[in-house]
Order: sequence, then structure tokens, then C-alpha cells
Amino acid sequence: MSEAAESSTHPAYGRLRAVTETASVLLADNPGWLTLEGTNTWVLRGPRSDELVIIDPGPDDDEHIARVAALGRIALVLISHRHSDHTDGIDKLVDLTGATVRSAGSGFLRGLGGELIDGEVIDAAGLKIKVMATPGHTADSMSFVLEDAVLTADTVLGRGTTVIDNEDGNLADYLESLRRLGGLGRRTVLPGHGPDLADLEAVVSEYLTHRQQRLDQVCAALAELGDDATARQIVEHVYTDVDEKLWDAAEWSVQAQLDYLRR
Ligand SMILES: [Zn+2]
Repeated sequence: MSEAAESSTHPAYGRLRAVTETASVLLADNPGWLTLEGTNTWVLRGPRSDELVIIDPGPDDDEHIARVAALGRIALVLISHRHSDHTDGIDKLVDLTGATVRSAGSGFLRGLGGELIDGEVIDAAGLKIKVMATPGHTADSMSFVLEDAVLTADTVLGRGTTVIDNEDGNLADYLESLRRLGGLGRRTVLPGHGPDLADLEAVVSEYLTHRQQRLDQVCAALAELGDDATARQIVEHVYTDVDEKLWDAAEWSVQAQLDYLRR
């Protein structure tokens, strides 16, 4: 766990920070070992637009949601995926603004926008936003492609590695999603947690290398421990370089790798 994840006094809390010409970020005050400094609520606005598109309201935090609502007229709210640190603030934001909310599943739809469709181009707040299904972290994970940047949510983080959710995550889907994102080339990464990164293509290549190393380690562990070794036994064997606090998450991740290898 980083020091920032334990502190509630991160200098970015409560301040809208411009990252690209069209994207700014408002950091929610919900630090943790999965959320890093907190959830990034992204605020998009085209050059001559007086409207906004919000990506992920963030947690159910009165101050955070009030700040988002006060930024200006919201044309649309888009949801990256179902996790509560990205979605719990939806109803408070809708109460304050009446905004329409769109997501991949039906659970978070508010207003008449409808479900997000892979490949769809959304025209809002003076921007063209391409919807890209990037399942793997969760089944419903979406990325949003702008001209010069990609909002990757938890598929590519600003720091550390993505956890494959133990309910509906899937490593094969995740690796395919990374390859598709990498195919977009050199663009700014606007992640769901952690700092923005300059080069999506380079980050994806690092992620794929890291995943392959972990898969190789799991294969080597299976060769030593036997093919029926449990995820926990493998974690204790392989993740000796990782803080024990993260072993539960590592166990999900190893289970995802075992599912992938045993397909
Ligand atoms: Zn998530």
C-alpha cells in the first residue's frame, strides 16, 4: 500500500485539474488499496461547449458529488463499469442535476439514454466519444476513446496492476482488451485511479509483459507443486515479492490465471 492510499489529505482532493484540452479530473476522497488515491471522476468538455460529459460519478460522497454537480450543465454521465467506487454516487448526482446516465448493463441507466454499445460514437458536449467494450477487469468494463486520449477506467490504471474481478472478470478477455487498446497507438491514458500516463501503447505493452511473466510463474509453480495446486498455494509460492496485505487480491488474480491456463 502506498502512503497516499492511507492519507485523506491528498493535495488533489476537491480541485478540478485540467489534463488535456478537453479532459479534467476531480479526485474523490476514497483512498484504499484498490482505489489508490481515490476514484477519478473525469470531466469532458469540447472547446466551444458549455456542457459537460461526466465519466463515473464516483463514490456516494456528498462533497464530491456536490462538486461534480456544480461544474456546469451535464449533457451525459457515462459509467465505465459496475464497481461501487465508480457508481455509488449516481443517484445523488441525478437528484442534483437530472442528468442522463448510460452504462453497459441496465443496472445504472437513468433517463432515456439507453445501454452503451461497443463501437458507438457519442456526440455530446462538443465531443465525439467512441465507446469501446474492454471486458476483463469486469464483464461490463468500457473504455471511452477521444481524439488524443483514452479513458481506461480500471482496465489500465495510472499505477500498479489491474485486479481481475473474481465474480465476472476474465483474463482471456482482459488480455484481448489490452491488445485492442494497444492498437489505438500512442494516446494519453486517463485512468480510473492514479495519475494520467503519456503513452497508452507503451503502458499496454508493459501490462502484457507483466501478465505473461505472472503466467510463466504460475506455470512454473504448477510444475513444482503439481497440477492440482490451489490458488492460495501458488500465491504463497510466487508472490513473495508482494505485501501480504495484497495476497487475497493476488489469490483472485492467480485463480483467474488458473482458469485461463486450465481452459
Ligand atoms: Zn473496478
